[in-house]
Amino acid sequence: MDSPLAVVARRLADWPGRVRGVATTPRLSRSAILRRLARYDFTHPCTLDAVISDMADLLEQGTVHSTHPRYFGLFNPGVRAAGVAADALAALYNPQVGAWWHAPAAAEVERHTLRYFQRRIGFDTPEASGSFTTGGAEANLTGVLAALARAFPVFVTGGLQAVDRHPVFYASDQAHDSLVKIASVTGLGRDALRRVASDARQEMDVGALRQAIARDRADGHEPFLVVGTAGTTATGAIDPLPQLAALCAMEGLWFHVDAAWGGLAVLSDALRGHVAGIELGDSITLDAHKVLPVPMGAGMFFSRWGAPADAVFAVHTGYVPDPEPGTSDAYQHTLQWSRRFIGLKVFVTLAELGDAGISALVERQTAMANLLRVKLAQAGWRIINDTPLPLVCFTRDDLPPTGAAAIARAVAAEGAAWVSELRLINGMRAIRACITHHETGPEDIRALIDAIARAAESVVRGVALP
Ligand SMILES: *Cc1c(COP(=O)(O)O)cnc(C)c1O
Repeated sequence: MDSPLAVVARRLADWPGRVRGVATTPRLSRSAILRRLARYDFTHPCTLDAVISDMADLLEQGTVHSTHPRYFGLFNPGVRAAGVAADALAALYNPQVGAWWHAPAAAEVERHTLRYFQRRIGFDTPEASGSFTTGGAEANLTGVLAALARAFPVFVTGGLQAVDRHPVFYASDQAHDSLVKIASVTGLGRDALRRVASDARQEMDVGALRQAIARDRADGHEPFLVVGTAGTTATGAIDPLPQLAALCAMEGLWFHVDAAWGGLAVLSDALRGHVAGIELGDSITLDAHKVLPVPMGAGMFFSRWGAPADAVFAVHTGYVPDPEPGTSDAYQHTLQWSRRFIGLKVFVTLAELGDAGISALVERQTAMANLLRVKLAQAGWRIINDTPLPLVCFTRDDLPPTGAAAIARAVAAEGAAWVSELRLINGMRAIRACITHHETGPEDIRALIDAIARAAESVVRGVALP
């Protein structure tokens, strides 16, 4: 039998060649998974190589495979050897990146990596800063806390009850729902999140935002933040960032840009114009684990003004040695305390591919989305979203209301590809296909079109029957 690491190495080596022959969706029922786990009651030790092999099989048979080039899914890219090997290395040495002095090499690798993104964003100034986060949700939370601490310094010690008026913030009705959780956990309350109407292209209506701010001020509320989305999760819409930045400047509001996925445009000179104005944000969310082929979680938070939530996060403890002069300890500037070496998989991926290789990956994804749009139109589908980013939402006018959902379910059940159902808040329903895998090619687009045609036929036939 192989050693445990040899099992992993072999799987890593042969998965890319094998994955297209594997179903995109779990082939094990929940009860089958539970039966497999029941063998482990943890009373008797097992040999490590046997457990690792068994878990590898279980994961392979019990997962929706985002590492499948025919996974046209949520923002979960495939992974490459660079990211997997780097993540294993991070686990092996397990540097504690919470404090610079504890892991100077890892801390500087992260800073070096973040600087690359700062240059691509246009945050390449001495006062700008960045940090790795567990994901976009933590980065958005950091942005909201930074905005709160700047608008209401008394919030840090006195809490929200020390703030005279009710603080409110704005995001479009298409913005990510992590903001809802954030409104809860910050104590602002969900009502403090004002959902601004989006237009027919799902972009925030700036006029509606202006009116909402004026109305809230007239009602005695205290606006403090606008969150613009660059690449909405549903349809890839990009809010009008320059106009939002100008309005925020005029109104004295913090401008946070949630570019968790749409930030991939900054990695390509050909695409970066689509998110022009991102550099006008006071802070930005960008997920490396959504825009690059690296394993989760690798979120990033950037600020134009240093670490603006410092007032919220700063602590000094008797049991942690003081930072070294000229360095800063992440645990005093961010929510996390113990901190995993998130940045290595990103660093190694950038180092292996280089600037040109990275932009080629992103541009390939947009080219495949364009091909998909053409092929869908030829096959009689109507594209319902309008984005330069690689996300395509489509429907057909002869489908019943539940048709899109039924087709997505049928595609998943067959396992030749994976797409999701989309329900927009205006009631529109569609099939959503995002190109997130770096190896998705024309043959995969063809396979998707075929899978959808088979599913649509069965759905239309099923509906026609009594
Ligand atoms: C995915 C997503 C988030 C949340 O990011 P996580 O990495 O999943 O925490 C936030 N905003 C947008 C626009 C997203 O697409």
